[in-house]
Amino acid sequence: MQNHWNEGDASRCATDLALRVYSSRLIGRDKSLVLHGGGNTSVKTEEADRFGETRRVLWVKGSGWDLETIEEAGFCPLLLDHLLKLAQLPALPDPAMVEELATHQTRAAAPAASVEAILHALLPFKFVDHSHADAVVAVTNTADGEARIREIYGEDVVVIPYTMPGFDLARAVAQRFPLEATPRTMGMVLMNHGIFSFGATARESYERMVNLVGRAERYLENHGVKPPTEAPSEGAPPRLALAELRRELAREAGFPMLLASRRSGKTLAFARHPDLSRIARYGPATPDHVLRTKRLPLIGRDVAAYAEAYRHCFEEMSKQAREPKTMLDPAPRVVLDPELGLCCAGRTARDAAIVGDIFERTIDIILAGETLGGYRALPAQDIFDVEYWDLEQAKLKKSGKPAPFAGEVALVTGAASGIGKACVEALLARGAAVVGLDLDPAIESLHARPDFLGLRCNVADGAEVTSALARSVDAYGGLDMLILNAGVFPGGRRIEELEDAEWRKVMAVNLDANLALLRECHPLLRLAPRYGRVVFIGSKNVPAPGPGAAAYSASKAALTQLMRVAALEWGGEGIRVNALHPDAVFDTGLWTDEVLAARAAHYGLSVEDYKRKNVLKTEVTSRDVAELAAEMCGPLFAKTTAAQVPVDGGNDRVI
Ligand code: ZN
Repeated sequence: MQNHWNEGDASRCATDLALRVYSSRLIGRDKSLVLHGGGNTSVKTEEADRFGETRRVLWVKGSGWDLETIEEAGFCPLLLDHLLKLAQLPALPDPAMVEELATHQTRAAAPAASVEAILHALLPFKFVDHSHADAVVAVTNTADGEARIREIYGEDVVVIPYTMPGFDLARAVAQRFPLEATPRTMGMVLMNHGIFSFGATARESYERMVNLVGRAERYLENHGVKPPTEAPSEGAPPRLALAELRRELAREAGFPMLLASRRSGKTLAFARHPDLSRIARYGPATPDHVLRTKRLPLIGRDVAAYAEAYRHCFEEMSKQAREPKTMLDPAPRVVLDPELGLCCAGRTARDAAIVGDIFERTIDIILAGETLGGYRALPAQDIFDVEYWDLEQAKLKKSGKPAPFAGEVALVTGAASGIGKACVEALLARGAAVVGLDLDPAIESLHARPDFLGLRCNVADGAEVTSALARSVDAYGGLDMLILNAGVFPGGRRIEELEDAEWRKVMAVNLDANLALLRECHPLLRLAPRYGRVVFIGSKNVPAPGPGAAAYSASKAALTQLMRVAALEWGGEGIRVNALHPDAVFDTGLWTDEVLAARAAHYGLSVEDYKRKNVLKTEVTSRDVAELAAEMCGPLFAKTTAAQVPVDGGNDRVI
């Protein structure tokens, strides 16, 4: 572990809290120390209250903040003396502890304090840092972990056997720390959990963390622990196998999830480890991870058997629980399969990515433990206690109701501009992960977020479509919704001047490409957990063609007929297929200000009147079309297939 302390940066911090922010971020930026909200830090200060009396305050990381990006507002100030008094109680249920923390903060607007606040209060040092350092956890998670920790650190750390986080852990520290600490003590190791460092200054506490973690890293190196061996990475996994696995996960979970496949040399080698069923049988490396990864990974693809075992385990364990518990969904979040590699499930792309990041670290820790003679993690009962701990359950409840398309995947063609781009936004806003295809390379940077994948793709080229689908299944595990939007509208040309080449080009993009897309997507759509949905972007020209648009009108009419046949053929599989017929949508790439002005002049209208040249005298935007396309994929249209809905403000030729 590298020391990133920069005295210049630190000297610009005017207050203890500013320094606390500075060195917390140094901890947070090191992925081998903390991942995704893990770890916490604190500083003890004094301030005058309303009556001019001095009080001691503990500023501790608030929940919901990441150390990497924390700010002063991310710390919760608590009355230190009250916390120390609480620590003397023989017992305190965790909900009561949370209540005590919430009612003894000195700023009403501060975030809820970390549940480790009392522990921070107990350590008699101004600055306290806590991480789940991989190297330390790897050493503690072995059969003789405690002896190894003592060998590495001697009197420099106090060792606390594994204790459930929360008040019990604070009590354990209150009892053991004063007895075992010596003038040399600079840290504390929590077995199967992580490490604390502390000091009189921010720098001392941080550099002690660097020192302590560095010693564990050198210990691993000296005992033959090397970075995992790399097997060569392989091409895309079988698309259908991933989509089938995703459907099974949804069946057991009761809701759809995204499934991201990680097939690096490292993850494949681990998924093919000859002793996998033994080494992956243990729970997470640190209890902090259980809500993300669940207790155990699924080895292979038998999701039903995993869920059955989970239910059984839950029943056994809930018999011993003090209060009745409600079972969480029994579907795994981590799947290890020799062919598919490491697959990570989550209701959002971000959740699935967090699961993947955590499990890739877990692989390193397991393999290090194996090199040291045998990896051991917490017993199942302890992990269960954390998974069903009131405070962890409260976190789940706080995350609220999922978005309508959470866990689902949509593919939009022609997604870089106009109606396609608006469809991407409408679907993202409803919680779907979206794959956007477009000829325009701008598609690749349309949105920088984990739930969007922009791929440059010519939809009229079969090989490009196949490879785009493979990449989207690799990223999200399947396909639930397909928006066929890509199309071309060549300039007006009467039949007597229409060349075969132009006719064929329009047919190739507007019709043939969509047939190929439907054919390629069908095996995925039929595996969609909530049944597949397809929306065709048609045109007003289907019911009301215009002169000079023979190729365009004929292609869209044939496309509409294709939609009707797809609805007939796929209805038995629950796939719904509908079409929209937009007209006069002017906020697209086709319509520049000059073209618009010319068309308006042609009709003797102002641009504003020309835009509203319909029965309702209203302007139709890309967003209007996209919102309806997204709704057609939702429950409102659950009983509708083969519908053709105009989005044109009312057209007297159509009506
Ligand atoms: Zn922790």
